[in-house]
Amino acid sequence: MGINCALDGPSGAGKSTIAKTLAKRLGYVYVDTGAMYRAIGLYAVRAGADTSDKGRIVPLLENISVELCYVDGSQRVILNGEDVSDLIRTPEISMAASAISAIPEVRTFLLELQRSIARKNNIIMDGRDIGTVILPNADVKVFMTASAEERARRRYEELKEKGQDVNYDDILKDINQRDYNDSHRETAPLKKADDAVEIDTTNMSAEEVADRIEELIDSAIRKDFKVIPAWRRGFYSIIRFIASIPFYIAFSIKYDGLENVPDHGSVILAGNHQTWFDPILIAIKVKYISSYMAKAELFKIPILSQIISLVHGFPTRRSSNDVSSLTRAESFIRKGYNLTIFPEGTRSKDGKIGRAKSGVALVASRCGVPVYPVGISYKRPLRFRRRITVRFGKPLSPEELKIMSMSKTDLRMAGELIMERIGELVKDNG
Ligand code: C5P
Repeated sequence: MGINCALDGPSGAGKSTIAKTLAKRLGYVYVDTGAMYRAIGLYAVRAGADTSDKGRIVPLLENISVELCYVDGSQRVILNGEDVSDLIRTPEISMAASAISAIPEVRTFLLELQRSIARKNNIIMDGRDIGTVILPNADVKVFMTASAEERARRRYEELKEKGQDVNYDDILKDINQRDYNDSHRETAPLKKADDAVEIDTTNMSAEEVADRIEELIDSAIRKDFKVIPAWRRGFYSIIRFIASIPFYIAFSIKYDGLENVPDHGSVILAGNHQTWFDPILIAIKVKYISSYMAKAELFKIPILSQIISLVHGFPTRRSSNDVSSLTRAESFIRKGYNLTIFPEGTRSKDGKIGRAKSGVALVASRCGVPVYPVGISYKRPLRFRRRITVRFGKPLSPEELKIMSMSKTDLRMAGELIMERIGELVKDNG
């Protein structure tokens, strides 16, 4: 099961605009449940049925099939094989949807369809009862509101833009009527779930609302991750400082892109690999403790193996897809550690950037954490006091890496993107 975000609220609160923006930003599936009710409303209107007459509407359900599909990233609503996406956006169908949605059988009819979409995907689902009835265990629940006048104004602008001949007062009347219907019906009335975060959008821009919800989703992803206690981080800073001294003496180290250094744990730092002390060069500027993937051969050397384990290094077999090593990496990240990894799996002999193995993308995908690219460059051969430049790049979010599905192609492409970003950071060799 992926991340489920429930977005509820009255008509015209801006749910669909926000849900679409977020789905695009995060690579999630947007599920517009209102469109499903509208499709049934349309069917009832076409059948000439009184939409408030339960006895007339319920038998119609047998002949109705509603599906959602996605064309070029936008959702289409299919009613009995016909794409009705544009036909359901009229004031008449809005009222019909509002009326038929009060019928319990109609709600039950759509419930399983909505849940099954949520089970299979990372979703943003908007509606009236998502947080209360459809997905009571959603990772994030938001209840969006705005004054009736503001909502009417927004809907007026939207319909006007689509070229429809509309009147503001009629829209406001419709909105008030639908608010009343939605919150006074017996089955699944519109109401805020106890654990939902309420956002009043009256004076907020769409961008601000989307940012706020993105923050909520981000912290929901991180909620299972622990934080390393401050005293351990303090102790680690001292060790880190002492360990850095010989390197500052031996080389002229320059750091770039320090604004991109992560200020919290549970992220992946991925660098290019040329020398045995690359992990130290990265660690010098990162406050949070890291774990390290190191080649299994090193753990056969007695004292070295103990030192590596002490700094949270764990072995990985380079020849095979080492599942236990990936599990260790994941467990470190969940405990609040970072993971420093060299995606190519081996040191580059000539300084050129190679191809990534699948490990980095797999861990990022399984934990849903960002990857911070780091480029380390110097003029060869590396002599005493030579300049070494360590550049931190902007993090790549799991969404940018598009690794939610974990398919082989996705992982390979994510690996390529990470190596490309690292490559950009080592361009001028010194
Ligand atoms: O969100 P939208 O305005 O497209 O929804 C149309 C109507 O469908 C609403 O007025 C509401 O009565 C109903 N609806 C519902 N439960 C949902 C989504 C929509 O009752 N989850």
